[in-house]
Amino acid sequence: MTGLKNLLGLSSDALKSALIESGVEPKAAPMRARQLWNWIYVHGARDFASMTSLAKDFRGRMAETFSLARPEIVTEQISRDGTRKWLLRGAGGVEFETVFIPEPGRGTLCVSSQVGCTLNCRFCHTGTQKLVRNLTPAEIVGQVMIARDALNDWPSTAPGRRLTNVVMMGMGEPLYNFDNVKAALAIVADGDGLALSRRRITLSTAGVVPMIRRAGDEIGSALAISLHAARDEVRDVIVPLNRKYPIAELLAACREYPGVSNARRITFEYVMLKGVNDSLADARALVKLIRGIPAKINLIPFNPWPGAPYECSDWAQIEKFAEIVNRAGYASPVRTPRGRDIMAACGQLKSASRKERASARHAELRSAELARMPG
Ligand code: SAH
Repeated sequence: MTGLKNLLGLSSDALKSALIESGVEPKAAPMRARQLWNWIYVHGARDFASMTSLAKDFRGRMAETFSLARPEIVTEQISRDGTRKWLLRGAGGVEFETVFIPEPGRGTLCVSSQVGCTLNCRFCHTGTQKLVRNLTPAEIVGQVMIARDALNDWPSTAPGRRLTNVVMMGMGEPLYNFDNVKAALAIVADGDGLALSRRRITLSTAGVVPMIRRAGDEIGSALAISLHAARDEVRDVIVPLNRKYPIAELLAACREYPGVSNARRITFEYVMLKGVNDSLADARALVKLIRGIPAKINLIPFNPWPGAPYECSDWAQIEKFAEIVNRAGYASPVRTPRGRDIMAACGQLKSASRKERASARHAELRSAELARMPG
């Protein structure tokens, strides 16, 4: 802990206020804020010293008051298929993961919104990790910045960047961390910031119905829904949130999602679980269900993890399922599993972080004290 105030993740207004508070002339603050913003988000500056267009004494004063702290990288793993996964550490030592998936002509970063999750979807590895805490705007934006660092992908406004898309599909439920996700995505989407257009940002939700409209109005990204079943009896079991917000309500919210059109379709994610949701009757029920919604359906072969209670559907079954969906007029790409060998594929993310109990923390402090005592 440095005691310096972290500027990462602040809105440009908050940045201005922080500058004024630190003694910058109110009249000069808007310009100073713009300059810093540009260095931080367009050029990826990691310290004030590197901001060479700014006067040296100003840089010095900034460095005495503020930091530009990204999360710390704990490990990096690279899959056989080029997928890269970083385990990151945030304040308080919590750990979370972020995954970069390169594809021809584009690259997608799968970003986490929480450490752990409250939802307990039965097929999801993250769901076996209790919620530890929400990630801060700095930690969410920091994931994009760390990936840009590693990919040598600055400045963010240059053509030919490797990181072109962001999906909020890592650990956690983004709509249960709405304010921080919104603040972070505003910076990601800012043309003078990380400069990924809102159409290249997709927010995925398991179906927090009351927040979907707000997400459309206030975040304005593309929307993905983790649907995974066409009948409430099945979805109640595999996505327990369905008991609170059943399928009919979820789809009603999708129909009203601001800006949805044929050019801006909603993605329905559907994990293929053998014998659970993969019958051809399910496929027909699915297309009937979403009729009238501009949509694409993303069939995701189930990615296994240790102790998972399900198996992936057989390939032939996935193909038959996809054919029914296709014939109904929906694009239904089967998502090629990426990064399975490093546990980086959909639903495989998990970190060892646990919500500390006060008693456990005390015990740890006690034992650290004991260890320091001269033997
Ligand atoms: N909580 C949000 C964000 C997570 S997105 C949401 O549920 O949408 C992660 C996606 O991977 C979700 O569609 C999730 O249902 C899917 N997923 C989870 N576990 C999986 C697994 N083992 N195999 C394939 N997909 C999985």
